[in-house]
Amino acid sequence: MFSTNRGRIALISVHGDPAIEIGGEGAGGQNVYVRQVGEALARLGWRVDMFTRQIAADQPTIVQHAPNCRTIRLQAGPLEYIGRDDLFPYLPEFVDRFLRFQHDERTIYPIVHTNYWLSSWVGIEICKRQLTKQVHTYHSIGAVKYQAVSTIPMIAKTRLETEKRCLETVDRVVATSPQEEEHMRTLISTQGSVDIIPCGTDTSNFGKIDRAAARQELGFSADDKIVLYVGRFDPRKGIETLVRAVGHEKLRDVPNLKLIIAGGSTPGQSDGLERDRIEGIVNQLGLAEKTIFAGRLDHTQLPAYYAAADVSVVPSHYEPFGLVTIEAMASGTPVVASDVGGLQYTVVSGETGFLMPPQDEVAFAGAIAQIVSSSQLRDQMGAAARDRVQREFSWDGVSEQLSDLYLMLIEELCNEFFSAPRPARRAKVKAAEAVAASAAVAAGTVAAVAAGAVATAAAGATVSV
Ligand code: UDP
Repeated sequence: MFSTNRGRIALISVHGDPAIEIGGEGAGGQNVYVRQVGEALARLGWRVDMFTRQIAADQPTIVQHAPNCRTIRLQAGPLEYIGRDDLFPYLPEFVDRFLRFQHDERTIYPIVHTNYWLSSWVGIEICKRQLTKQVHTYHSIGAVKYQAVSTIPMIAKTRLETEKRCLETVDRVVATSPQEEEHMRTLISTQGSVDIIPCGTDTSNFGKIDRAAARQELGFSADDKIVLYVGRFDPRKGIETLVRAVGHEKLRDVPNLKLIIAGGSTPGQSDGLERDRIEGIVNQLGLAEKTIFAGRLDHTQLPAYYAAADVSVVPSHYEPFGLVTIEAMASGTPVVASDVGGLQYTVVSGETGFLMPPQDEVAFAGAIAQIVSSSQLRDQMGAAARDRVQREFSWDGVSEQLSDLYLMLIEELCNEFFSAPRPARRAKVKAAEAVAASAAVAAGTVAAVAAGAVATAAAGATVSV
């Protein structure tokens, strides 16, 4: 019998570094997801390594977050930031570096959990070479995203093909909402195994301060009407819809209304350009006096902003999950969001906020106006929102579900290996030996590495082939 001791696990997030500052260029929900999942899994007893691409020579190659949780930065391609649409050519080198890292550590990860399509390709290549099960989270689906943007990048075809191959062939895909699963089934493929496990949030951080204290801390008064946006500057986030809603007659003359837009940007980069565009609309509509661009805020600062707000607005054109939504809800603040994707799962329209048609500034203005004009409705929806997050979306609950999934796959891995006839088993060992050999493993450890996936999977088990 195998024990269920939890072993080593690799989370792979090629372009979303879990150790980097969140809220700036290209760093958002995926980075938070990988880091939080990694840390929560480590608390459950897994030894978690999170692999990402190193983007600067002065970045540490290993960042230790907790005793059993670290970020490993692999060098693949130039040591500079490269947008996700241009990263594909460097993936073979990433695979190679990953295999070398395993060799140096004398291990084979029994599970790789990949994030975003680029990492799915990496995971598929790793699984071709060794005894490993792959779990994948999409974070964004090309077929959905390309419906919502005006320019389709050159890499689109490769992305769509990889996403299809991933869904049809990896051991398990994790959809973060029923809506995401539906998109996978209708737009990618009807084949493959999907489990729904949502994203989570830290309910002890978001929700730790009440509205009055938060307003005092941030210098707002009790009768301010605070409308909050938190997120990246990206056209698909729909910040323009929110700004135009605040400029609409339903909100324009509300006394003491303040619009806070929080999120980082770098001048000249794509998020800097979007920020300039949004600022242009703010000025054009005469909203500059009531608008505050708060810049990038970290997770120690954000709880006060969410708590201070009367309403948090998520006006995305498309949103696979939307962590900001559950952060605001956990803080006891109702959310007005677009009626799309994962937002349809997190927000219960009429109970924890309102869902409105995307890009419909008049509808958004009406929903925001309802909440800011009634503190009773705001408080009632805010309490229901917090309650919903505590029940459905805490990281600890989410990581328990992921952990159960990994344990089940590891059991499958062991069963497949040991139920295979001896020649097939030997062939699998040969394949693992080849990986080990290509990584120049010292002769004495080859056998251990060959059976490594099974051995590390079932810590304490006696492995004989
Ligand atoms: N975020 C942050 N600081 C900011 C802006 C955003 O820490 O100034 C975080 C936010 O709290 C959330 C994440 O970035 O955890 C955004 O995730 P979401 O899923 O909402 O959007 P994505 O970036 O994945 O599109």
